[in-house]
Amino acid sequence: MSGHHAPTLDAGGQGLTSQRARDRLVATLRAEGIVDPRVLEVMRTLPRHAFVDEALAARAYENTALPIGLGQTISQPWIVARMTEALLEHGTPAKVLEIGTGSGYQAAVLARLVPAVYSVERIEELLRQARRRFRAMKLENIRTRHDDGMLGWPAEAPYDAIVLTAAGELPPPELLAQLAPGGIVLGPFGPPSGQRLLRLRAGAGGHLQREDLGAVSFVPLLAGTR
Ligand code: SAH
Repeated sequence: MSGHHAPTLDAGGQGLTSQRARDRLVATLRAEGIVDPRVLEVMRTLPRHAFVDEALAARAYENTALPIGLGQTISQPWIVARMTEALLEHGTPAKVLEIGTGSGYQAAVLARLVPAVYSVERIEELLRQARRRFRAMKLENIRTRHDDGMLGWPAEAPYDAIVLTAAGELPPPELLAQLAPGGIVLGPFGPPSGQRLLRLRAGAGGHLQREDLGAVSFVPLLAGTR
């Protein structure tokens, strides 16, 4: 997107998708512990309302997950910010693979901060909508693929970071195999009742270093496509 913004679409003239609403969201994120100024700036400028159905646009700058159809959700802004921050904390990864494109919002946030984003989604209809949004916003550094993301995207490997936005018990081995040396895997893992956000770092000799970043709640990582 260009540096200057056209007036934002305004649901019912109430300013609910206005710059003021975004500024309020950023204040909330800051109050809840998000500190990386690069991440806060992207959250302040990227129009989250463009990633949800028009009927929900007025709620786009609330700090909540929202339905995007087909039983899926756009993640809560705080978790998008937290995961983005955790991905950038030890240097900017050049090439990031996301599993679970969904609305495309997390991929779009990343695309503003890293050189290249690859994103895999198993539900074709969601991917179609996300691709349309990327085109409309001229986010040209995102490539997408309709497939089971548990298999990763081997043709484009290795990745400096792999981020999962759906929860499995354990990181799929195919994904770990597509990680560059020193690369990180970030995502929700564990049983549905006790998911934890984990950051795994590939060390020397295939050893994985594990950091627990706290309790989270994500939709399940499912095999196959639809
Ligand atoms: N990153 C998304 C979050 C969407 S919710 C956003 O910002 O909106 C998680 C998404 O993961 C859903 O769209 C779901 O269909 C997808 N998903 C679940 N299992 C998957 C798998 N094995 N491969 C690819 N996508 C998967």
